[in-house]
Amino acid sequence: MPDLSYSPMATQFDVIIIGGGAAGIGAARRLAVHGASALLLEASSRLGGRAYTQNLGGYQLDLGCEWLHSGDRNAWVGIAEASGFPVDRSDPPWSKAHPSIAEDKDDQEAAWRAYGAWEKRLRAVARGSDRASDALEPGGEWNAYVRAIAGFMSGMAPEVISATDYLAYDDASTGKNWNLPLGYGTLVAASLPPSTALRLATPAERIDLTADGVAVTTRAGTVRAKAAVLTVSTAVLAGDAICLPPGTEPWREAAAALPLGRNEKVFFEIGRDAAFEPGSHAYGNLRDARSAAYSIRPNGWPVIEAFLGGDGARILEVEGPAPGFAHATTELVALFGSDVASALRPLAATSWSRMASIGGAYSCALPGQSQTRARLARPFDFTTAHGAHDSGHRGADEIMAALRHRQGKAA
Ligand SMILES: Cc1cc2nc3c(=O)[nH]c(=O)nc-3n(C[C@H](O)[C@H](O)[C@H](O)COP(=O)(O)OP(=O)(O)OC[C@H]3O[C@@H](n4cnc5c(N)ncnc54)[C@H](O)[C@@H]3O)c2cc1C
Repeated sequence: MPDLSYSPMATQFDVIIIGGGAAGIGAARRLAVHGASALLLEASSRLGGRAYTQNLGGYQLDLGCEWLHSGDRNAWVGIAEASGFPVDRSDPPWSKAHPSIAEDKDDQEAAWRAYGAWEKRLRAVARGSDRASDALEPGGEWNAYVRAIAGFMSGMAPEVISATDYLAYDDASTGKNWNLPLGYGTLVAASLPPSTALRLATPAERIDLTADGVAVTTRAGTVRAKAAVLTVSTAVLAGDAICLPPGTEPWREAAAALPLGRNEKVFFEIGRDAAFEPGSHAYGNLRDARSAAYSIRPNGWPVIEAFLGGDGARILEVEGPAPGFAHATTELVALFGSDVASALRPLAATSWSRMASIGGAYSCALPGQSQTRARLARPFDFTTAHGAHDSGHRGADEIMAALRHRQGKAA
């Protein structure tokens, strides 16, 4: 197999970064600060991973991450501001229900209360079985709603969610959710430092330990470095796409205990002047666990974004985009009247869980497995793009410390 073309040296880079999502780019930025030479290998033909903005119909749509969660301590906010990307700090649309919806306020409040009570019971469950479904009220009237919200948050059914893990995410959040009108994916993809060598469409197939570091094998050849940072999703890590060196089994096992949940989006363009309030929000059906949350005219665009989690996202995963659009259209017609069906044009639908190089939306610990995150990363902000950035940043620091230690021993 030929060597990659950039250099014939045995050790070409200080560090090879595998994966060009928020974590890989976070690692690259930190390595650049340390003055280390780095090569980033990315399997797909673009940077960003689950941070992906597509310009469709003239609108910057975030197909993956969209919200700068915990904006007041989110590293991407500082990066955005330093790079001239505007940050919208106004309240997110889910705090503003669409005014025309004739929903039953009593039902909505009862559903919210049921979710709050479930979350409170999760604390006791976390000390026992740790299975989030054990906090559901048997036969509870609003269990479908609780399941749908848990699906938005973790992409999973409560039966396979660790209560401890679910609460840890909630507890870590500062409640500030900001937005990037130019797209979260646009920012992440634009943030790779120019000093990082980049190979797109070059999946790492194998990592071997060598006498002086690592050898990473790709279709285009083998490249060597003193160390590697592996930033692929837990689904990829737990699978067999990358052959890892002996001794790394505990990482694979930890990744398998942190599977990726299902979350998908469908987008409609509002084709004629239907009376949709800009920057507002609607919830599909309080009694259907597959229901979507609708962001209406985000940034004033004539667009409706439907966000699906768990069983709702499975419609797209299993049946494909057309049934996903049909499901969302049925809910929107029930909310806004039959006229809206002819005003909506399908614009885009995601399929994160079907992408081999990603495999889902965000990781969720299985019951009793929340501590396994510690083997992969620290347990903060783990399902978010800024959490990914911070783990890449930390991985880079750890590598530099290890390389300095190795150098010291050799001297
Ligand atoms: C629908 C959806 C909505 C979301 N909403 C939000 C949100 O609003 N806010 C938020 O903070 N987070 C959100 N997230 C989560 C957030 O997008 C992720 O947590 C974050 O982007 C993960 O970054 P990462 O770098 O860890 O992983 P990834 O983005 O998965 O990056 C890993 C990269 O590795 C590459 N790769 C895989 N295999 C190989 C290989 N063999 N060789 C080389 N490269 C490889 C992949 O192609 C990918 O580019 C959302 C995710 C989804 C799917």
